[in-house]
Amino acid sequence: MRLILLGPPGAGKGTQAQKIAREYGLYHLSTGDVLREALEAGTELGRQAKAYIDKGELVPDEVVIGLVKEKLGTPEVSATGFLLDGFPRTLAQAKALDALLEELDQELDAVVNLEVQPLTIVDRLAKRRVCKQCKASFHLEFNPPIVAGVCDYCGGELYQRSDDQEETILRRLNVYQQQTEPLITYYAQQDLVINIDGERSVDEVSRLIGEQLAELTNKHDCA
Ligand code: AMP
Repeated sequence: MRLILLGPPGAGKGTQAQKIAREYGLYHLSTGDVLREALEAGTELGRQAKAYIDKGELVPDEVVIGLVKEKLGTPEVSATGFLLDGFPRTLAQAKALDALLEELDQELDAVVNLEVQPLTIVDRLAKRRVCKQCKASFHLEFNPPIVAGVCDYCGGELYQRSDDQEETILRRLNVYQQQTEPLITYYAQQDLVINIDGERSVDEVSRLIGEQLAELTNKHDCA
């Protein structure tokens, strides 16, 4: 399967992506995670991305498109399929992905769009804590770790992302509405969009996505 997870920051893309990728054996590509890792490692890519991430703005298209091409173009990913989390975020990125998939003779199966209201997003991101090691995400109120500051899954240290401060959250939300939201229409025109109510609990959202993907797989098997 080849999937895109679309939705505003804080919609739960990372959390759901980890679950879906595990269940279906898909290669999970989070461009945000790749950029943050590059930043921590102090690579050239990290240095290029830092100022944009800190301000809540998008890293230039050519930089992100380059890294996605590198990752998706491998025989391993062609064999397993993929789940894109945080990419594409602009029309130019969506078109570059189309061109890449055509080159690879592959097609997208679905775009899962997590719908969440702006007020929910601000609350979720301000109270989000992320594991430094396995990137699992927690919410201080609704999904707190068993031991404060420690990841339930791998024991890693939890931290607050620097771009999860209120001012940067509002900027990211604005960037999403201006640059990424139009992609819903772009993919709807290709009849690929599956809308999911992202306001529900983590488990409920997983269940809803699971149902839709099962339907999709059945359709493919029957075709
Ligand atoms: P995320 O972890 O998906 O919320 O991404 C964190 C930050 O990384 C974003 O606010 C952007 O600065 C940058 N970023 C991640 N993915 C992309 C993308 N596809 N295009 C441009 N910038 C991105």
